[in-house]
Amino acid sequence: MRKKITVVGAGHVGEITAHLLAEANLGDIVLIDVVEDMPKGKGLDITQSGPVRGFDVLVHGTNDWKDTADSDLIVITAGMARKPGMSREDLFTANQKIMDGVLDGCMPHNKNPMLLVVTNPLDIMTYHAFKRTGLPWQRVFGQAGILDSTRFRAFIAMELGISMRDTQAMVMGGHGDTMVPLPRYTTVSGIPVTELIPQERLDQIVARTRDGGGEIVKLLKTGSAYFAPAASTVEMADAVLNDCKRVLPSSVYLQGQYGIKDIYIGVPVTLGANGVEKIWELKLAQDDLALLQKSAATYKEHLKILGY
Ligand code: NAD
Repeated sequence: MRKKITVVGAGHVGEITAHLLAEANLGDIVLIDVVEDMPKGKGLDITQSGPVRGFDVLVHGTNDWKDTADSDLIVITAGMARKPGMSREDLFTANQKIMDGVLDGCMPHNKNPMLLVVTNPLDIMTYHAFKRTGLPWQRVFGQAGILDSTRFRAFIAMELGISMRDTQAMVMGGHGDTMVPLPRYTTVSGIPVTELIPQERLDQIVARTRDGGGEIVKLLKTGSAYFAPAASTVEMADAVLNDCKRVLPSSVYLQGQYGIKDIYIGVPVTLGANGVEKIWELKLAQDDLALLQKSAATYKEHLKILGY
């Protein structure tokens, strides 16, 4: 039987996510938004690209939460996007209310779903979804690390004039200014990037990665990035829906790993049919561990804004 995937929010990230999920034939898709009729139009439009693009799944746009019933995976992209000059954290209260509306809409129709959160501030919203639903932590996770890593990879490929596919990178920490790109775990076909790019230049690339989202917000002027975020989200959806056991940086609930407790933050995990199947605890260099713990401390403070 085909899998069922709900995408909540049919804005920029949601529509491209639905499109890429369909192109990858990952399952039938329900695209839901509060704006009347708009998701129905987008759903039809994506579905009608199927015959020429060669996919068989349907994209059903709707405004009715009942249509989300019994989803294998619920991807939450509903929320306000960042505007120029706005930090991700400015979005806190607005997106908390939106998240509450989404969970109240979906949960009565879904007994034990998996939630893949994309809404910013990512680590905070994922924590909130976990606490509010009471779902097992393995079934609630957030997308950010793949996006941050793919940006790092793209910059490395651009720098060296090589294929994007031959780059591997690891970015841990929160999805924000405190993210922790790790050149030590970043390679080109297995060759440490530290042997290929001089330290000073690598530092610039790391800084550009940290500001990767902000750079695009400044250029777009009316919203934030959506192509790479959607592609990164679909990578995680594929891992769980096809039980791939991919090792991917994801925002997950830590319970003492890396000396961090009761917080969602980006670390490498195994993603498969049961959601987060393993959290990998790397022996980080002391300065990288300090940066990760600093990132966690920032998010612990931010959670207080939401009343935790
Ligand atoms: P957008 O404004 O284009 O789309 C958001 C959509 O959510 C709108 O269509 C809106 O009507 C809908 N919505 C609002 N409240 C809703 C509700 N209660 N139920 C259903 N739908 C609702 O924004 P976007 O560019 O698609 O960004 C969406 C979110 O994703 C933002 O919070 C943004 O910051 C975040 N984001 C995260 C990442 C990441 O890597 N985690 C990357 C990019 C964007």
